[in-house]
Amino acid sequence: MMRPDLHMHSTASDGTCTPSELARLVQRADVTLFAVTDHDTMKGLPEAIGAAYDRGLAFIPGVEISTEGDEEVHILGYGVQHDDPVLTAFFDQMAQERIDRFRTMGQRLLDLGCDLPLDEIMAGAGASIGRPHLARALVKAGYARDLQDAFQRLIGKGCPAYVPRAPLAASKAISLLRERGAVPVAAHPCLIHWPMEKLLPMLKVWQDAGMQGIEVYHPANKDMYSFWDRYARDHRLLVTGGSDYHDGTPGHGLIGETIPAWRTAGEDGWALYQAARK
Ligand SMILES: [Zn+2]
Ligand SMILES: [Zn+2]
Repeated sequence: MMRPDLHMHSTASDGTCTPSELARLVQRADVTLFAVTDHDTMKGLPEAIGAAYDRGLAFIPGVEISTEGDEEVHILGYGVQHDDPVLTAFFDQMAQERIDRFRTMGQRLLDLGCDLPLDEIMAGAGASIGRPHLARALVKAGYARDLQDAFQRLIGKGCPAYVPRAPLAASKAISLLRERGAVPVAAHPCLIHWPMEKLLPMLKVWQDAGMQGIEVYHPANKDMYSFWDRYARDHRLLVTGGSDYHDGTPGHGLIGETIPAWRTAGEDGWALYQAARK
C-alpha cells in the first residue's frame, strides 16, 4: 500500500533541504509516494524527479501557489510539467513581483531610518524572498527587538513599511493549473482565515473553476480531519494530505506525520497519482 506525503518544501522555496535530501528523508520515513510543492516555483522539480527515480520512490511533481494576497489561500497543483512554458512565465512574473515588493518595502524602511543591506539579503534568500527575510534583517541590525516586534511596528499589515501583494484570485490559479493539465487542490483549509460562511461558498466557486481536491490530512487540519474528509467525498473531490515539511521544526510538519490518522492514505494517494499522470 502506498504511504503518501504530498506536501513539502525544498531549498527552491523556503525549505532547508535540497530536493535530493528530501528524497532521502522520505525514504527514511517509509513514505513511498511523495510530492515536492515549493511556493510559486518549479525549479526544484528536475532534481526531485531524478532523486525519486534513483531511490525507486513514486513521485508527483507539484507546486503551491500563493493566492488572494495576504489571505494565505494556497493552491496546490499536482502533475505540473516542470518545463511548461506558460507556467514558467507565470512563476517568473510572480518572482519579479516579489522582488519589486521587497525593494519597495526596503525603501520605505530606509525612509523610516532602517538601513538594511537589501542586495545581500536577496542574495542569501533564494526564490521566495519576502517579509520574513526583512524581519530577520531588522532584528539582526537592531531595528527590532524580535520578529514579532518587526511585524507589529514596521512590516505587518497596515504598518508604515507594509506594501500589499498584488492579489491573485485563487480561481485564476486553479483554472491556469487545470488548463496546463495539472490537478488543482485547495491546500490546508484550516489555515485559511475565513469564516465558514465565506469559505464554503468559495470552495464551490473554486470547484466550478476546476479545483479537483482538498488537502484534508495536513497538520493544521488535525481537529477537522473528519469534517474535511466528508466534505471532500460528498463533493466528489480528491482527498490529499501531506506534512508541509519545511525544516524539521514542529511548527511545520515532519515527513510522513499525517499518515497514521489518514486511514485511506493508500487509496487516496493512488487516486491522486493516477489523476496527476493523465
Ligand atoms: Zn501553504
Ligand atoms: Zn506548503
